[in-house]
Amino acid sequence: MNFEYRLYPTADQAAEMLAWLDICKRVYNYALAERRDWIASRKCRINACSLKHEYIIPVDTPYPDLHKQSAALTRAKKTNPELKIVDAQVLQQILRQVDGAFVNMQKRGGGFPRFKKRLKSFCFPQFKTNPIGIGTIKLPHFKYVRIVMHRPIPEGFTVKQVRIVKKASGWYAVVAIQSEVVLPTVQPHGFPIGIDVGLNHFVATSEGELVERPKFFVDSQHKLKKLNRRAAKKQKGSKNQLKAFQKVARHHEHVANQRKQYHYAIAHKLCDQAGMLFAESLNIKGMASGMLAKHILDAGWSQFLSILAWVCKRRGVYFAKVSAYGSSQECPECGSEVCKDLSVRMHDCPECDYIAHRDVATSQVVRNRGLAALGIGVREACGGNESTRPKKQEILNREVRMLLAQGQ
Ligand SMILES: [Zn+2]
Repeated sequence: MNFEYRLYPTADQAAEMLAWLDICKRVYNYALAERRDWIASRKCRINACSLKHEYIIPVDTPYPDLHKQSAALTRAKKTNPELKIVDAQVLQQILRQVDGAFVNMQKRGGGFPRFKKRLKSFCFPQFKTNPIGIGTIKLPHFKYVRIVMHRPIPEGFTVKQVRIVKKASGWYAVVAIQSEVVLPTVQPHGFPIGIDVGLNHFVATSEGELVERPKFFVDSQHKLKKLNRRAAKKQKGSKNQLKAFQKVARHHEHVANQRKQYHYAIAHKLCDQAGMLFAESLNIKGMASGMLAKHILDAGWSQFLSILAWVCKRRGVYFAKVSAYGSSQECPECGSEVCKDLSVRMHDCPECDYIAHRDVATSQVVRNRGLAALGIGVREACGGNESTRPKKQEILNREVRMLLAQGQ
């Protein structure tokens, strides 16, 4: 579990933290370059040697993995006094980060790790004693840094890691805490709700609720444009330009915070209503390459789904993802295929006359699939509220029919 607290380092401490970030960045880029060159030197065949690859690494040189790189780092400290400035464990953590990026690429199909222009954070990976005192946090090398404990660390939890993060608005400490008590995994129970995330509505639930999509990003585009324009007019390299850039960065941070808060609010709202939640597993990466990229990324679905999973776990709500394949083309009532393209906003089944909003129908399919995976019947799961639920659906159907009638 991660708690984030505001830090108020002194001017000296802040300057040192910045210097650390710079050194960490260089270690990161060096480690990345080492691995990249090794991989590049193994890529070309002997009969088709690329003219571009000037690095020729001997055949018997082993791949610079985490273990070899950390050993090399320890050796490099003898010749490079700069590396000694930063805590040894913090640097090792940077190498682990590089390693993680490569593992991510191989296992989950991420992109080739990129060089970093700037690093935003560094991490103290372990603490022997509790570093948090009254209004201060005791960090290796920095001694005591002022911290605002706006919420206490819950009893029974110990501090595992502390990540120091530089944001546009200042410094933060992300404190990872851990408890000895293992939370029991949530068993499927209670009322099932399926959700569908979409562009027209942020979330549609199988109960017929449509949550409006937040337009933080689009709304703030205007402001961002204004701020960027102002920054562009300032003299290059001047203090005023720097200030203008800081304003842009702070605005980005503000939008990100707003979005996160919104995601938490929706996740809690959903947990209020359900004992089981089902969502589609989406291929956001593939979708974002299309023309709607900006809006899709704006909605921040992947962040929402991970926040939802986390909130569900804390609130004791069962959460599962189901296959999204063809879910918008299926009738939730009779299961027959109803083809409709994106412009059709209503689901109207020719087989069983079931009418619902398109996104609602999809979320009902998601719910049905989730229940099927658990071996629970839909009627059985929704049965507890049989007297109220169908009525609600009937009302909705009536409304939908009226709307359709008006349209004709
Ligand atoms: Zn049907």
